[in-house]
Amino acid sequence: MKKVLLLKFGELFLKGKNRHEFLKMLMKNISKKLAGYQFRLDETQGRLILSQYEEELEDDIIEKVQKVFGLIAVMPALEFDATLENIEQRVLDLDFGDSKTFKVESKRADKRFAMTSMGLNAHIGGVILDKFDWLKVDLYNPDVVVNIEIRVNGKAYLYNKLIECCGGLPLGSAGKGLLLLSGGIDSPVAGYMMSKRGLEIEAVHFHSYPYTSVQAKEKVLQLAKEISEYCGDIKLHVISFTEIQEEIHKNCDPEYMITIMRRIMMRIAEKLCKQNNLGAIITGESLGQVASQTMQSMTVTNAVVSLPVFRPVLAFDKEEIMDIAKRIGTYETSILPYEDCCTVFLPKNPVIRPTIARAEYNESFLNVDALVEQAVNNEEIIYIRSGKDY
Ligand code: ATP
Ligand code: MG
Repeated sequence: MKKVLLLKFGELFLKGKNRHEFLKMLMKNISKKLAGYQFRLDETQGRLILSQYEEELEDDIIEKVQKVFGLIAVMPALEFDATLENIEQRVLDLDFGDSKTFKVESKRADKRFAMTSMGLNAHIGGVILDKFDWLKVDLYNPDVVVNIEIRVNGKAYLYNKLIECCGGLPLGSAGKGLLLLSGGIDSPVAGYMMSKRGLEIEAVHFHSYPYTSVQAKEKVLQLAKEISEYCGDIKLHVISFTEIQEEIHKNCDPEYMITIMRRIMMRIAEKLCKQNNLGAIITGESLGQVASQTMQSMTVTNAVVSLPVFRPVLAFDKEEIMDIAKRIGTYETSILPYEDCCTVFLPKNPVIRPTIARAEYNESFLNVDALVEQAVNNEEIIYIRSGKDY
């Protein structure tokens, strides 16, 4: 008998030709996540089985695989030769905690096993009732389900605990995008959500040093490190926005300051995408949250780029975004009080319904191409390694 972890992945997306590719990617991502651990990973009939790890590291390993996109659940299980006596024996070792009701659910991929699934359920149910006399059977709403899987490798797997993972698609299966990462609550969540759909990410952060502090940048590095637990390694492009902001402040209508800033951020982002082979821009904008996040504002910012702009939290309330931030562990960092470059020279009344014509008129007082070029040429690159200090 040995302890193993059964890993459950989303079946739906695994139909047809893609199945093999997706699985290969998923297994590679799990192996990468567990780099440094000793383990073995096998696929059998719609399940992954992680085995031969050090038992005392099981909790650490579970915590890590929970963050691998594409997995739905991890089940700590016992593996043993599939004989009826073994199953009878092993169920007696199960921990039922505070549970009062249970049911047995068996799956029999190996039809050579003498009993039918139904027969096995009833028989093992009886064995459990004899030993744990406070338990009752409840077929419809049990506190705990005792699962028995009998696989064609001649092994039985027994488990009664299912730990949820993140779901989604394997990282890398949807290509690569560039996340506009501020120090706020929304953009780290946006990065997490797109990675959950299989997108690998690089990130860009704009700072206005010395108007913004060194701590503000440190905070962004910390956020990048936190999402890298899920999103994998991140190449972070740090761009100085100081001169651009000064130029806009000097030459443009204050009402249009944020609009022009956003358009220049987008242009820089697109240039970085071209240079680094990235296929989409990702932002943490949410419709109507602030003046710069109206439909008209997004039209005016989208107008300067040809790549798709993904805004995964567009339709989310702040509360909903905060809930995700808390769950993935970025919230506490995001609420640290350092200023963002967007808050420097902030106009009192930013335009709510900007137009492309007015934006272009304002930009005619700037040398936009040169500013973009210079900002990109002076970028600082920081590599964030998943799970490591930067
Ligand atoms: P967040 O919580 O992500 O900061 P926000 O609600 O504060 O968002 P804005 O400050 O208007 O909204 O920014 C909207 C989006 O623009 C951000 O989600 C982010 O994707 C991008 N962005 C804003 N400031 C920066 C910055 N300094 N560097 C990189 N991206 C930025
Ligand atoms: Mg912000």
